[in-house]
Amino acid sequence: MAEPIRNVVILGGGTAGWMTAAALSKALERSGTAITLVESEEIGTVGVGEATIPTIHWFNSLVGLDEARFMADTGATWKLGIEFRGWQGGDSAYFHPFGTYGSPGDGAMFPHRLARAWLGGEDAPIEAFSLTTQMARARRFAKPVGDPRSLLSTLGYAFHFDAARYAAHLRMLAQARGVTRHEGKVAHVDQDAESGHVRALVLDNGERIAGDLFVDCSGFRGLLIEQVMHAGYEDWSHWLPCDAAWAAPSAAEAQVTPYTQATAQEAGWRWRIPLQHRVGNGYVFSTRFQEPDAARALLVDAMESPPIADPRLIRFTPGRRKRAWVGNVVAVGLASGFLEPLESTSIHLIQSGIGKLLSLFPRADMNPLLAEQYNRLSAREIEEVRDFVILHYHRTQGRAEPLWRHCQTMPIPETLAYKIEQFRTSGRIMLGIDELFRDASWFAVLTGQGTRARDYNPLLDVMSEADNREQLRAVRNAIRGTVAKLPNA
Ligand SMILES: Cc1cc2nc3c(=O)[nH]c(=O)nc-3n(C[C@H](O)[C@H](O)[C@H](O)COP(=O)(O)OP(=O)(O)OC[C@H]3O[C@@H](n4cnc5c(N)ncnc54)[C@H](O)[C@@H]3O)c2cc1C
Repeated sequence: MAEPIRNVVILGGGTAGWMTAAALSKALERSGTAITLVESEEIGTVGVGEATIPTIHWFNSLVGLDEARFMADTGATWKLGIEFRGWQGGDSAYFHPFGTYGSPGDGAMFPHRLARAWLGGEDAPIEAFSLTTQMARARRFAKPVGDPRSLLSTLGYAFHFDAARYAAHLRMLAQARGVTRHEGKVAHVDQDAESGHVRALVLDNGERIAGDLFVDCSGFRGLLIEQVMHAGYEDWSHWLPCDAAWAAPSAAEAQVTPYTQATAQEAGWRWRIPLQHRVGNGYVFSTRFQEPDAARALLVDAMESPPIADPRLIRFTPGRRKRAWVGNVVAVGLASGFLEPLESTSIHLIQSGIGKLLSLFPRADMNPLLAEQYNRLSAREIEEVRDFVILHYHRTQGRAEPLWRHCQTMPIPETLAYKIEQFRTSGRIMLGIDELFRDASWFAVLTGQGTRARDYNPLLDVMSEADNREQLRAVRNAIRGTVAKLPNA
């Protein structure tokens, strides 16, 4: 059996770096393994990434965050889902909620019940059947309960938070558990002449940081994974045309909106993320379809109140690193790839990368089979999320600007075309076993983007159409009654 890892070096102190440091310091607490993090204040972080999805609870409990303290420290607010505005043109809007639709435990079957009612001529809005959506619309809040008989078990929630404060909060935890931080820019990387493995980072102040395992959290540049290990990058711009974003904060709102807004615009879409101390605004756009200056003006004009700091331009290439783990370097965060933030999935992908690293944690001999499994799982996961994001762009109707015409007619991945066709013809939502977005999410977005199922699961026919409608009415009333009793967000 090979020797254990004695020194882990994390390059980067953005969200990915400090999440990795917090998780590894917890997992390796009594192992005697040293963890060192290198970051450069001069280079800085990407500084965005403020909306999360409910899987964040897994990570927060893994690292032992106290929710109330974390919310206070990071200016966090509740997030119940995303409101998509204008994706079907004009004033159209739909909601992608967390949690499930319908009665408790009815998650996968509910879309069939509603599809059946729609096919029978019933005009029932999908939103009325989601407790989370109704709660969001009423700006109320409650946490899900464990009791599977309670309607409150259908709820889901996540957070909006200040990315810089989140990293600072995790830094405090990680340093308290013994992680050592080094300030400085990497000037040179020492590699083993034979294996090509990274042996040490040499900083511009001459310091040499040696390690057995290196986690590359250096952001888009992928300093170790790409510039040193040449992992390769798969570019997805042909499916996801947006390649830049302007970001600007504005003053906090009086009553916090407990959801993210994503508003379709001429050459992309605009986000609005309310925090306790400010509102985060941004415009994700395609430079192929709009000049950055025009995009900046669009964002500033559309904001409800003037920016309280200068808008910042961030450029990116959507896609994934062909191998996220090469030799003794594992890339986590933006260094491993990037999907634009339409469904707030990057922080999830960070924590999922960390989860995989923990379960495949190597010995000093770096068994290549572990890397192979890591790369296989990472590729599948990000491709599944990619398809879900492309769905939004591709199924948009009622918008005629060049970007949207391009997206409506572009060829899409076969895996996505298959899912859409299955849903259209059979009402089935075809998911992999551990796919991130489940039935409720696909149902919300497919329906919101104007795709209706032409059939439903025939097992439902054991119940009469009238009984099905009656059951739907009962759920709708129960949701209305429950929301009325909940406290404000
Ligand atoms: C426009 C936009 C909006 C986003 N919105 C969301 C969202 O709503 N939800 C979500 O989940 N995610 C979102 N993301 C993604 C999210 O911001 C990132 O996943 C997250 O911030 C992680 O970034 P990172 O830590 O990988 O990289 P970075 O923040 O770029 O950190 C890189 C680190 O590496 C260090 N570094 C780099 N080179 C060197 C060097 N040579 N020497 C020393 N140190 C070095 C830097 O100093 C820094 O500390 C968004 C991203 C973008 C671009």
